[in-house]
Amino acid sequence: MQYSPKKTKEILENQNIVLKKNFGQNFIIDENIIDMIIKKANIDKDTLVLEIGPGVGALTYKLAQEAQNVLCYEIDTTLKPVLESNLKEFSNVKIIYNDFLSENVPLEIWKYKFKKLYVVANLPYYITTPILVKIIEYKLPLDKIIVMVQKEVGNRFKAKPNSKDYSSLSVYLNYYFEIKKILDVSRNVFIPKPNVDSIVVEFAKKDHSYLKNEQIFFKLVKDSFKQKRKNLRNNLKGYDLNKIEEILRKYNLDLTARAEQLDIDIFIDIANNI
Ligand code: SAM
Repeated sequence: MQYSPKKTKEILENQNIVLKKNFGQNFIIDENIIDMIIKKANIDKDTLVLEIGPGVGALTYKLAQEAQNVLCYEIDTTLKPVLESNLKEFSNVKIIYNDFLSENVPLEIWKYKFKKLYVVANLPYYITTPILVKIIEYKLPLDKIIVMVQKEVGNRFKAKPNSKDYSSLSVYLNYYFEIKKILDVSRNVFIPKPNVDSIVVEFAKKDHSYLKNEQIFFKLVKDSFKQKRKNLRNNLKGYDLNKIEEILRKYNLDLTARAEQLDIDIFIDIANNI
């Protein structure tokens, strides 16, 4: 019989699987949510999908139906028997049972031939940011990321300068992607039920401004936000501060400004001219 998310509870009980809070295990039990994510993702047979945390395969099952291949990373090896059983009809799914953050993901990705690369996942909330940072730092040729995250965290991705949520991650993400919320998800569609609601966020690749050197940009942004409450003069010791100040003046700013006041274009201008 086909696996369906509604059966998750039953499967977990039958197999004596104890859900692990420390792995951020909140499994989706509402098939409609999965269907909506799949519909929005618009996956086809030219698409390689990367999924972090398949759990018992609720999302994986439908990803496998649509995609050319699905590459998953699951840290919890006790889920292996149930995942293998739920996904037994698919030959296009590969699951690596290890910590996504400690794996060499590009090495695995480049084993596939694909036209499009998507990340689609219901992320473990305790490491949402490290996972996204890792994905960005890999510089994979990503076309789209669709992830379910904690509502507050998702809102932070879209943060604009001068708001408390604006961070180096918002700068990176908004540099590479057009970000939008595509779905609100109630806490009631998971087992166990989390303490917070979720949203599904889409990151679509965008044409971004020219950067002479992405590494310099990454480092500049990271250093600028190093101590959020300190100004640029303090966070950017070791840089050519005269040059930076000259650039900031164009935007009516100086070195007493904090990183949170700088929009992406200012970071790009500085990175391209230091
Ligand atoms: N995709 C499933 C679903 O939607 O029902 C499960 C999502 S659950 C929120 C997060 C999953 O990520 C769990 O299966 C958990 O074991 C896995 N996970 C947690 N930390 C991980 C890590 N560092 N690397 C890979 N998987 C991880």
